[in-house]
Amino acid sequence: MTYDLLIKGGTVVDPDQELNGVYDIAIENGKIADVQAEISQDSHDVIDANGLIVTPGLIDMHVHAYWGVCCYGLEPDAINLGRGVTTALDCGSSGAETFEHFRRTVIDRVQTRLYALLNISAMGIISANIGELLDMRWALVDEAATMGTKNRDRVLGIKVRLSSHVIHQDDKLDALKRAIAAAEGFGGFVMVHVGDIETPLETLTQYLRPGDVVTHAFRHWGGVRSAEGEITDVIQSERERGIVFDVGHGGGSCSFETIETAMAAGFKPDTISSDVSTISVTGPVYDLVTTMSKFLHFGMSLNEVVRCATTTPAKQMGINDDLGSLRIGTTGDITILRLDEGDFTYIDAERQQTSADQKLNTVATVREGKIYHDWNR
Ligand SMILES: [Zn+2]
Repeated sequence: MTYDLLIKGGTVVDPDQELNGVYDIAIENGKIADVQAEISQDSHDVIDANGLIVTPGLIDMHVHAYWGVCCYGLEPDAINLGRGVTTALDCGSSGAETFEHFRRTVIDRVQTRLYALLNISAMGIISANIGELLDMRWALVDEAATMGTKNRDRVLGIKVRLSSHVIHQDDKLDALKRAIAAAEGFGGFVMVHVGDIETPLETLTQYLRPGDVVTHAFRHWGGVRSAEGEITDVIQSERERGIVFDVGHGGGSCSFETIETAMAAGFKPDTISSDVSTISVTGPVYDLVTTMSKFLHFGMSLNEVVRCATTTPAKQMGINDDLGSLRIGTTGDITILRLDEGDFTYIDAERQQTSADQKLNTVATVREGKIYHDWNR
């Protein structure tokens, strides 16, 4: 038998199987066929991954992919597949009244495997200037639950954005409750976008259920770091209760000061996502692997940052039977990275800089056995 693709001699980092060493990986019919220290069978295609890092296909749990309608939407393939991400979750770019258009024009047509959270606002996110919840008549629970039920293969939950330019202060808890009610209508999870200092995170998390997600958790204010500049016991115990803390770097939502505070308190993110969009793709976010590189720089291990962008988001999204792992028989999604050494400058969403001596870069992405080389660089 001849394999379709053989990736030879790379350092395999697969947190799902606790693999961290040099292995060959064979792919056949779009699935992982074998993982061994040495595979000598013939293959149609061979990638020499010597000196490179081989991981399960990366999963970005916060992107905006509704290009042309959502003001933040990027064309998904160049920024995802082109940069190591095989699976991505669009977080609220569409809502009950726009999702079907998003699905037909984008999700069903692109090569990146896309899932979505519906915005509790039926319009989704259209304009950066007029928040989607400034008029709460858009927050339609039944319509969101119905659309989610109808598209359960792609819709995983509900997104609600609670920052001041999106919604009036007095409406925030109402919007959060409506998001939870809509998600309960089809068994999805809620992702809450936090974004200002008026509402401490503890005020919001008490409404969340285990498995619900806080995105932008590492922002300068309004995330896991309190106004006193610490990670409170309440936040620590909310994690123990099962609340998921996601990065969602974005143009305005990740601060090195917060990361350092959190690391010192042993509070690492559950999932590392980019929230890459039209306003952050040229910096400070660039892409998911740059976001992972920042957490590597601030003290997480390579195994940990890979886990936060593979195994953990796969479990959160309920797709871990087949994705986020290099187990034999699962989908042949693989990312090949290079850990470059040199002088690098990272910038956070507060425009603070830090110097680093390592950076992850994408070499190639494999989705269901098909190779996509990095076409951005
Ligand atoms: Zn976002």
